[in-house]
Amino acid sequence: MSPEQPEEPIFYVCLTAKSNFIMKRFYMFIPAMLCIQFAMAQTTDWQTYYEKSGKIETPGYQETIDYCNQLASGSKMITFTSFGKSAQGRELPLLILDREGLSNPQAIHASGRTIVLIQACIHAGECEGKDAGLMLFRDLAVKNINSKILKNVSILFIPIFNTDGHERFGPFNRINQNGPKEMGWRTTANNLNLNRDYLKADSPEMQAWLRMFDKWMPGFFIDSHTTDGADYQYVLTYLMEIYGDMDAGLTGWTKNTFVQQLETHLNAGGYPVFPYVGFRNWHDPRSGLITEVAPPMLSQGYTALRNRPGLLIETHMLKPYPLRVNATYECMLATLEILSNESKNLNSLIFKADQFVCSDSFLNTPFPLRFETSLKDSAMVSFLGVEYNNVKSDLSGGDWFQYSKIPATLNIPYFSTANPSVSVKLPYAYIIPAEWTTVIDRLKTHGIKVSELPRTTKIKVKTCRFKNPKWQQNPYEGRHPMTNIEFDDIEETRSYSAGSVVVEVMQQAGRIIPHILEPNGNGSFVYWGFFDATFEQKEYGESYVIETMARDMLARDPALKQEFELKKAGDTAFAKNPQLILNWFYNKSPYFDNRKGIYPIGKIFDLKVLESIRSE
Ligand SMILES: [Zn+2]
Repeated sequence: MSPEQPEEPIFYVCLTAKSNFIMKRFYMFIPAMLCIQFAMAQTTDWQTYYEKSGKIETPGYQETIDYCNQLASGSKMITFTSFGKSAQGRELPLLILDREGLSNPQAIHASGRTIVLIQACIHAGECEGKDAGLMLFRDLAVKNINSKILKNVSILFIPIFNTDGHERFGPFNRINQNGPKEMGWRTTANNLNLNRDYLKADSPEMQAWLRMFDKWMPGFFIDSHTTDGADYQYVLTYLMEIYGDMDAGLTGWTKNTFVQQLETHLNAGGYPVFPYVGFRNWHDPRSGLITEVAPPMLSQGYTALRNRPGLLIETHMLKPYPLRVNATYECMLATLEILSNESKNLNSLIFKADQFVCSDSFLNTPFPLRFETSLKDSAMVSFLGVEYNNVKSDLSGGDWFQYSKIPATLNIPYFSTANPSVSVKLPYAYIIPAEWTTVIDRLKTHGIKVSELPRTTKIKVKTCRFKNPKWQQNPYEGRHPMTNIEFDDIEETRSYSAGSVVVEVMQQAGRIIPHILEPNGNGSFVYWGFFDATFEQKEYGESYVIETMARDMLARDPALKQEFELKKAGDTAFAKNPQLILNWFYNKSPYFDNRKGIYPIGKIFDLKVLESIRSE
């Protein structure tokens, strides 16, 4: 489907242009249909599955789809569509709510309204967002409650992102969660956590999400979760990227306008809130609160780097389900109310942020890849915790945190200053050799613009040679990430074959590109193992050949002999291992693989080089 095409409502009405006659007849009946629709809104049972259950159950996939269809048939403002398919073939549902019934991004952007993307059930056991969002859509579009906010805001709603995991439905999916009765499973059918997949995009669900996101470019994003962790009074905590990784203008607005107003709204509504935090010692609020910059493998970390503020909602799993759904509803509504007033302001800041990444100033600013929260800077805060004890467990021998039901305001240190720990100078462009097809495809899935070399071209690039590579033994998200990424910078002239792609950094996704392609990027493709093959030695010398060759080499080269003796003396494991010794000589011979460990991605820092490529 091209971006100009309106979304086709696949679940409900499927109007094709097959017959003009039918279409004309259809338009004649519009007034009648609107009357029917109005009548439907009055007579239809609009209670959600959750409400009908007495607020103790959440709907399964099919019941959710049925209600989405009902919403689309009950309001001309709502379109129901799919943004892709899960690994098991389920449609990924997307509701679109626009006061004019617009259902394509260009038209809504042209209207000036801010598009807000609300997502639920990325972790399918954490389902408040689904139940709250369905009620919110009904209230706004069918019951006309708070619908004035739709003047400046249009909403995309994904009631279930992890659809396959959602259908692994059961009462024992979340050990410490206080309802609903049954719920989905955290991960996809492939056992992948979608909220670690935003950069590597291994799952078809995430690939579909990235295409949808790039197509719509919503101005604001909400991701609804349920947290584990220590007990405290807050029903809901939240997190936004205000610690240095997002565009400065957007960060200022998020910190000084949005977050302030959100806290005021929720406090007034009876839901005191606090940023989503970790504890210096896990489970122990008195040890101090710590916040961290979200890496771009996480949802709100990703959208922040796409210049779109993201709000992470984390309700507290020990609080009763209806309370969590209400708090999520209030948080979504408060967000929409704020955005309705701030729409113009936010749209303008987004425009500036998108312009900035396309400017020289962006390239001339050191780009932070990683942050560390300072344990030297803290401020004392009042945290609405509960009384608790830490006793030595006679069962496990470890700490046993015993939380009471007694509220306690804890005055504790809050560590919320993050400083860049790894930064890079950005190049004008990265160049990816044509043969790294998966990498190229994933970049395109992100909506990253690339151009192809029309013919084989020699290009002078900066790159690196890796040393001491190490990988973790146990799998993580279906891969074995690198635990040691160490390298020396090198410069070389390489021949890039036709079809190699040039990725210019000055583009809308400019903040995502370095995280993927810089080896030290936070969730880089080197880290995830996309380039693992470059570390493998593929040619060896047979021992009986090297035994002779090594003796000749030592006889001819006294310096080599000395190096060998020193190596043996300093490395006993080496000295005792015949294979390592013979391979050492192989690697000193002209037969060694001089491309092993060299990063295939080149960086272009010379504008003239880039311009000559552009003119190809
Ligand atoms: Zn979660």
